[in-house]
Order: sequence, then structure tokens, then C-alpha cells
Amino acid sequence: MSRLSEASLREDICRLGNSMFSRGLTFGSSGNISVRLEDGWLMTPTNVSLGGLDPARLARLDEAGRLISGDPPTKESFLHRAMYEERSEARAVVHLHSTHSVAVSALADVDADDVLPPITAYYVMRVGRLPLVPYHAPGDLSLADAVRKLAGKHHAVLLANHGPVVAGSSLDAAANAIEELEETAKLFLLLRGSKLRLLTPEQAAALKPS
Ligand SMILES: [Zn+2]
Repeated sequence: MSRLSEASLREDICRLGNSMFSRGLTFGSSGNISVRLEDGWLMTPTNVSLGGLDPARLARLDEAGRLISGDPPTKESFLHRAMYEERSEARAVVHLHSTHSVAVSALADVDADDVLPPITAYYVMRVGRLPLVPYHAPGDLSLADAVRKLAGKHHAVLLANHGPVVAGSSLDAAANAIEELEETAKLFLLLRGSKLRLLTPEQAAALKPS
């Protein structure tokens, strides 16, 4: 990868972080973003607001995950690595503690194999099936194994009482999918208690992932 494209990816990560922060999709120092390079990763640093990222201080990791420049990466970097290890085509991963997704992740009566129903075609195309990963305490590295078990089949997973992790074929694809997930979680909460007319299995099956 050329220096030029790494520089533009650094700008893209910071622009996306700022956009998500300013729209309330992330808050405090929560949430993290990574992009795969030919010889490693760019990752948002630990203890930093996604609203105030500096392109020059993003963590640059080598192929083994060692920090080679910038600030130390997010403490949740293991979530990103688990996704990349299982999904060779993934170019970017976004993880948020976005409010509506976290709310849904704490509901006792959701289907752990597929948390959100097919409310819209866009959700089905961008997210599809969304499994729930059992709760793990912050820093518990066995969460990586739990994510790895599901990541081969699912580019999006929801961590119980925590938030979503979404991989994409580009930074835009990962961002669009996690935003679709958050908006669908919001719709799901708005509609709780209402009699729903969901997409039928045939309608959902006719849609192509995008
Ligand atoms: Zn988290």
C-alpha cells in the first residue's frame, strides 16, 4: 500500500470518528475503528474520543499486531483482530457502544441466534443475521474466542450488554452497516409491543447483501 493511500485512510478514519461522535453514535472515549493495510493495521488509540482523532497519532500495527508508530491502540483491539482472523476479505472493523444497540443487547427476550428482526430491506442487505455474543467483563480476552466462533459466518455481531462489532469490505461498508444496525435497533425499540408486519422469509431471501 502506498504512503498516499495510507495517508488518505488515516484521514478517512478521523473523519468517520468525528462524524459518528458528532451524531451521538459514540461518546466519551468509547468506540473504536480499524483498517487493514497490506502489512498490518491502523487502529484508533486507547483513551481517546472518536471526536478528536489525530491522523498522525493513530496506532500503526505490524502484521503481528505490534505497535510500530503512533499511540497505543484501543484496549479492545483483540475484538478487531478476532474479526480479521476469521474474515480474510474484511478491510475495516467498527465497534461502538451506541445507545440503541446496547439497549437491545440487554433485553432478556431476544433471539440470541438473530437478535433483530427483518424490519427493512436495508437492514437485511447490510447486516443480515445478527448473533448475540454472551457477556464478558471488560478486558476478558476470552471474549475474542467467543467473537471468533461467530465471525467466520457473520460480519456483524452484538456483544451482550456492550455493543456491536461490524466488519466490512471497506471502511464505508463497515460504517454503513453499523449505522444501519443502530437505526434498526432504534426502530425495534420504537415498535416493541406493536403488532409487526416484517419482511417475509421469501422477501428477505430475495435480497442481496450490499
Ligand atoms: Zn466496547
